[in-house]
Amino acid sequence: MTGTDTTRTAGTAGTRTAGTTRTAGTAAARDADPGSHLVLNPATEEVLATVPAASPAEVDAAARRAAGAQEGWAALAPGDRARLLRRFAATVDARLEELAALEVREAGHTVGGARWEAGNVRDLLEYAAGGVERLTGRQIPVGGGVDLTFHEPIGVVGVIAPWNFPMPIAAWGFAPALAAGNAVLLKPAETTPLTALQLAELALEAGLPDGLLQVLPGAGPVTGRAVVDHPLVRKVVFTGSTATGKEVMARCAAQVKRVTLELGGKSPSIVFRDADLERAAAATPMSFLDNAGQDCCARTRILVQREVYDEFLGLLEPAVTAVAVGDPADPATDMGPLISAAHRDRVAAYVTPDLPVAARGTAPAGPGFWFPPTVLAPADPGCPAATEEVFGPVAVVLPFDDEADALRLANAGRYGLSGSLWTRDVGRALRMARGVRAGNLSVNSHASVRYWTPFGGFGESGLGRELGPDAVAYFTETKNVFISSEE
Ligand code: NAD
Repeated sequence: MTGTDTTRTAGTAGTRTAGTTRTAGTAAARDADPGSHLVLNPATEEVLATVPAASPAEVDAAARRAAGAQEGWAALAPGDRARLLRRFAATVDARLEELAALEVREAGHTVGGARWEAGNVRDLLEYAAGGVERLTGRQIPVGGGVDLTFHEPIGVVGVIAPWNFPMPIAAWGFAPALAAGNAVLLKPAETTPLTALQLAELALEAGLPDGLLQVLPGAGPVTGRAVVDHPLVRKVVFTGSTATGKEVMARCAAQVKRVTLELGGKSPSIVFRDADLERAAAATPMSFLDNAGQDCCARTRILVQREVYDEFLGLLEPAVTAVAVGDPADPATDMGPLISAAHRDRVAAYVTPDLPVAARGTAPAGPGFWFPPTVLAPADPGCPAATEEVFGPVAVVLPFDDEADALRLANAGRYGLSGSLWTRDVGRALRMARGVRAGNLSVNSHASVRYWTPFGGFGESGLGRELGPDAVAYFTETKNVFISSEE
C-alpha cells in the first residue's frame, strides 16, 4: 500500500476478513448496499472506497478472538509488552506520510494537521509503552500481614471513535488500553474507517498478536451497539455526540460496564480589557476554525469585555478573512471542508439571516462540503448558534461587563470541556481558571490537548478522563490482596 493508493484491500490485520474494495461512482450510490459504507473525499466528493460493515455476529466472533488474544498479551512480561508497543510506534512513524495522506483524503484534514495526527498516534504509543513498566501497585500498612494492590487489565475494551479526529481519538483509547494488558475492539465512524483499518494492519506488522486490536467498521446503531452490548466487552470508551453518549452510558449501566465519555462542547474564549488584544485576536480564528470547527474543544463563544469589544472586533475581522480555505492537501491551506453534505447542511442551519455577521471568510465553490469561516454577533446569547454545538466554522462574539458577568456567560449551558482566558493579570487568570467549570483551560493560549496531560469534560461534556500520567491505569481494575503473616 502506498500513499497514493486510496482504494485498497484491507483484509485488515487482526480484524474481520472484510475487505475494502475498489468502487467507482458517486455519493448517490451510498445507499446501494446497506451492509457497506462508501467513504468519500469531502474535498472532492469522489468515492474513495467501499468498506463492508461488521454485523453483530461478526462483532461477537471478534470479541471472542479478542478475549483469547488478551489472555496471552496480559501474560507477557511487561518489558516485552512495552517493546511491542514501541515497535508499533516505530511502524506508525515509518508510515507517517502515508497515514497523513489517507487522513487528508478521507477526513478533509489539512496535510499539516494530518501529519500532526499521525505523529500523535506514534507519541501516544510511545508514552503508553512507558506506562507498562510503571504500572506499579501499592504496599499498604496493615496488622498481621502485608497488603498489596495490583492493577489488573479489564479484559476486552470497546473504543467507539468519531470522524472528527479519527486517528488520534482512536489511539487515546487503544494505546493505553493495550499497555494495561487489554485487547481492543475499535469501531471507527462510518465516514472515516480507513486510517483505523490501516493502523490495525500496522499493529500486526509490528508483531502485536492477531486479534488484539481489531477494527470493526459499520453503522453506530448496529455495529457500535453490538460492541457496547457485548458481554465480553468490559469497558467502553466513547467519543461523539452527547445524545449518543447518553445512550452508550445507559447500555453500559445495564451490565455495570466501565465507561468513559468524551462528548460535546461549547467552549468560551474570554478576552479581558487588559489582555494583549492583538495577540488574542490573531490566535482566535484557528481556535474555532482548526479542522473546520469540527473539534469538541473549539472556542466557539468569544466573550469580550465591553470596553474593548469594538477594538477587538476590528482586529478579529481581518484575521478571520485571512484564513486560507481550500484544498487540504496544499500545505498553505488553513482550513478544509466539512465531513459531509448532511453535516454542512446542519451547520448552515445555525447561520440564520436574522443574526448579524461580525466577520466572514471565503470558501471554494464547486464540489466538496465547504462552509466559510463565520463569526456571528447575536443580540440574544440564548440563541441556538450561541448555545448549541455547531461543530463547524461558526463562532459567536458576545460582550461582558466584569469577571462575574464573564463567569455567568462562560458557565451557562450544559457543556464544560475547554476554554481560554486572555488577561495579563495573574490573579484574575487564577480566579477565572478556578471559576470556569470546564476540564481543560488555557491562559493566553488556545492549547487544549497534550497526550501527557489529562483531558475530559465537566457536565454533559463527558465522564472520566483520558490521556495524561494516569491514562494506562484508567484501563485497569484495582485488586487488593492481603497476605497473612500469622503462623
Ligand atoms: P455520533 O455520536 O452519532 O457518532 C460517534 C461515533 O459513535 C461513531 O463511530 C458512530 O458510528 C457511533 N455511534 C452512533 N450511534 C451509536 C450507538 N447507538 N451505539 C454505539 N455507537 C454509536 O456523532 P455524529 O452523528 O457522527 O455527529 C453528530 C454530532 O456529534 C456532531 O455534529 C457534533 O456536534 C458531535 N460530535 C462530537 C464529537 C466530539 O469529539 N466530542 C465527535 C463527533 C461528533
